[in-house]
Amino acid sequence: MGNPKAFLTIPRQEAGYRPVHDRINDYGEVEQTLNTGERKQQASRCMDCGVPFCHWACPLGNRPPEFQDALYKGKWKEAYEILNATNDFPEFTGRVCPALCEKSCVLKLTLDAPVTIREDEAAIVEAAFREGFVQPRTIRRNGISVAVIGSGPAGLAAANQLNLKGYAVTVFEKDEYIGGLLRFGIPNFKLNKAIIDRRIAVMEAEGIAFKTSTPVDVEHLPEGFEAYCVCTGTPQARDLDIPGRGLKGIHLALEMLAQQNRVLAGQTFSKDERVTAKGKRVLVIGGGDTGSDCIGTSHRQGAVDVTQIEIMPKPPVGHNPATPWPQWPVVLKTSSSHEEGCVRRWCLNSKRFIGTEDGRVCGVEVEEVEWIPAPDGGRPVMKPTGRTEVIPADLVLLAMGFLRPKQPEFPANVFVAGDAATGASLVVRCIAGGRKAAADIDQYLQP
Ligand SMILES: Cc1cc2nc3c(=O)[nH]c(=O)nc-3n(C[C@H](O)[C@H](O)[C@H](O)COP(=O)(O)OP(=O)(O)OC[C@H]3O[C@@H](n4cnc5c(N)ncnc54)[C@H](O)[C@@H]3O)c2cc1C
Ligand code: SF4
Repeated sequence: MGNPKAFLTIPRQEAGYRPVHDRINDYGEVEQTLNTGERKQQASRCMDCGVPFCHWACPLGNRPPEFQDALYKGKWKEAYEILNATNDFPEFTGRVCPALCEKSCVLKLTLDAPVTIREDEAAIVEAAFREGFVQPRTIRRNGISVAVIGSGPAGLAAANQLNLKGYAVTVFEKDEYIGGLLRFGIPNFKLNKAIIDRRIAVMEAEGIAFKTSTPVDVEHLPEGFEAYCVCTGTPQARDLDIPGRGLKGIHLALEMLAQQNRVLAGQTFSKDERVTAKGKRVLVIGGGDTGSDCIGTSHRQGAVDVTQIEIMPKPPVGHNPATPWPQWPVVLKTSSSHEEGCVRRWCLNSKRFIGTEDGRVCGVEVEEVEWIPAPDGGRPVMKPTGRTEVIPADLVLLAMGFLRPKQPEFPANVFVAGDAATGASLVVRCIAGGRKAAADIDQYLQP
């Protein structure tokens, strides 16, 4: 802890986003960076608490006080080594993690101004790549082969950990690129895809074999491997089975997001195939992060206007007494995409899609609902009010989450990790799940 009083004198400073007028017409990352001096000052705010809750709150068990101290002292290599000891891919979490650690930082709990842990993490890993601290290592091989199915953050973390332990790792991926939802879900304006390619190049140089465009039937796993790690994610999105669902112009969120990421990678689609918000009134159904990504993408594609509706009530701003620490604070989240312009509404249930004579969607009938607290303290009960209205829309995007996949009964040498094991989650939890599966596989394969 370099400066024991910094937290008293230095306020939290976020790098913030590029101005809306600057970012709205491109897909470049929206988040900016601080200069080195400011970044070190932010790191110095860490109080090195006796019992650091951030360790516990981070699913990876990252050690922020240790890397903040190294960062403050300008020991960038040491900071990266501390960070990388618990986190295979800080360049992903440093960009897209909701920073569970910061919600537990003592400076959050006392001053509502936590240390900028996530941003500091991103700064450390970017310096590490820039300065050449991230180099392929030579690994002693143990002669045992392991297959990883799926190349999202869980599969990549499992592959990385197993490879470092000496196993010969092959990653099978059904898509044409590596990365899972990092590649085809999360938009470029949150995570530039060159960041994934940079890490894959290191992993390949360290000996991992990646086989893209290679779907694997998990009930008939490829032969030649002593263990398997199934990291196939949550392939099925929750749909909205209400009248009019068959109309043109209604899409699952990933149909748009994945296609846009492919377009940015140079692929082309016919006019009929293209899912675009250009010149359209967009309605996003679902108030979560995927919905937010649909909003940002719609703006960049040239939407006329964007509305987002959510069936649940609007959460409170800032602090929610119903979810006190150490629970995850359920509070209103305003993303960079919301800042770019969007009408947000809550307590609306979708009743039916309305179409034009030629079969295109032109609106959605919604009904206001109320949420009555359950007498047993469980999930509140939805009560329809009978108050309906039609929200006009030429493009409707369904962003209502993903169904938890059911896995078959696997033999003892098959392990499951990431969203495939837990249901839809977070990048940080999937990296943690991949690491845990690698440790379990290693233990299983010990003679
Ligand atoms: C739009 C969107 C935005 C998100 N934004 C964030 C965010 O900002 N922050 C955050 O923390 N989390 C975010 N998430 C959640 C996060 O991306 C996921 O929790 C995480 O990527 C899941 O990782 P995974 O490795 O389990 O699976 P996935 O990333 O889904 O990867 C699974 C991989 O397995 C492959 N696969 C599937 N079946 C087979 C098969 N049979 N054979 C071979 N390959 C197969 C798939 O093609 C895919 O590449 C977001 C999710 C979405 C949808
Ligand atoms: S991975 Fe996420 S929760 Fe963990 S230290 Fe980094 S920002 Fe915090």
